[in-house]
Amino acid sequence: MAKRKEKLSIVIPCYNEEEVLPALYKELKKVAKEMSMLTFEFIFINDGSQDKTLKIIKTFAKKDKRVRFISFSRNFGKEAAMYAGLENSLGDYVTIIDADLQDSPSMIEEMYTSIKNEGYDCVALYTKNHKDYSLLRKFFTKCWYILIGKISSIKQVPGARDFRLMTRRMVDAILEMKEYNRYSKGLFSFVGFNTKWINVETNKRMAGKSKFNFFKLFKYALEGILAFSTAPLMFAAFIGLLFCLIAFIAIIVIIAKTLIFGDPATGWPSLACIIIFTSGVQLFFFGVMGMYLSKVYLEVKRRPLYIVKETEKDQKGVEYEKK
Ligand code: UDP
Ligand code: MG
Repeated sequence: MAKRKEKLSIVIPCYNEEEVLPALYKELKKVAKEMSMLTFEFIFINDGSQDKTLKIIKTFAKKDKRVRFISFSRNFGKEAAMYAGLENSLGDYVTIIDADLQDSPSMIEEMYTSIKNEGYDCVALYTKNHKDYSLLRKFFTKCWYILIGKISSIKQVPGARDFRLMTRRMVDAILEMKEYNRYSKGLFSFVGFNTKWINVETNKRMAGKSKFNFFKLFKYALEGILAFSTAPLMFAAFIGLLFCLIAFIAIIVIIAKTLIFGDPATGWPSLACIIIFTSGVQLFFFGVMGMYLSKVYLEVKRRPLYIVKETEKDQKGVEYEKK
């Protein structure tokens, strides 16, 4: 009996990507043609797009059985889209790639060869220079990586892309982590396995705009910290202790001054400032605790990460492989 060809699943999260999808699909087909030793499935995740993304994906799926899609009932975010893709993939290897062609799909062959011949479980890409991103975004990203490197035990590679190719074993390990507040870059690192990092030059986004504005990126950065570090809580405890110590020393100084010089009570304005300052610090750390608590709250509710409205199986007249 002929040996079954191994399968590679390509997961593509898409949110309003109508402008780039035709070019991406063309590139993916080229990769599949060149890597004839494998069979392919292209899993497009339509993350609640409001443009023609779904329509375009459907036209691909009609003509090409390798094309599968999962269309969400609304926008659930890229993390949910990536999870849905991994969860529904059937391949022996799975890769995740953004739709905008900032990463070149032609890298997939090299990534696969590294896994096959060099024994890696995962090949991931990072870049030292994001051509597309503003100086401000690059600056904050750099600061964030320095910070997370110091406060988290999880190794984070600066400039890491989400573009990576993994073995089924690694994908299953990631799927085992069903947490609601997902920060995949951390989870990829958390599961361990042997990862080869390749430095690449990224391209400019082919068309359309980045789907991450400053507020979304800030939330994402915060997600990473809250998911992989408890340092802010430790810091709160440390500051609390420090303030107690300062207050204790101040009390001793005041008592001594009063006993020696018989000083009347003075300094009300400074006292007011101290009260405002300390209550500000307290509120800030209440906020920090609140953020962790809100994450726990969201976890215990066990809401689904995404809700599917439609998949390729809802199309008439096409038979697909079952999981
Ligand atoms: N994306 C998504 N859901 C979202 C936001 C983005 O599926 O809510 C997808 C998007 O379509 C793209 C990938 O995630 O394929 C990365 O997004 P983008 O290129 O806008 O991010 P950037 O490169 O600016 O970080
Ligand atoms: Mg992009």
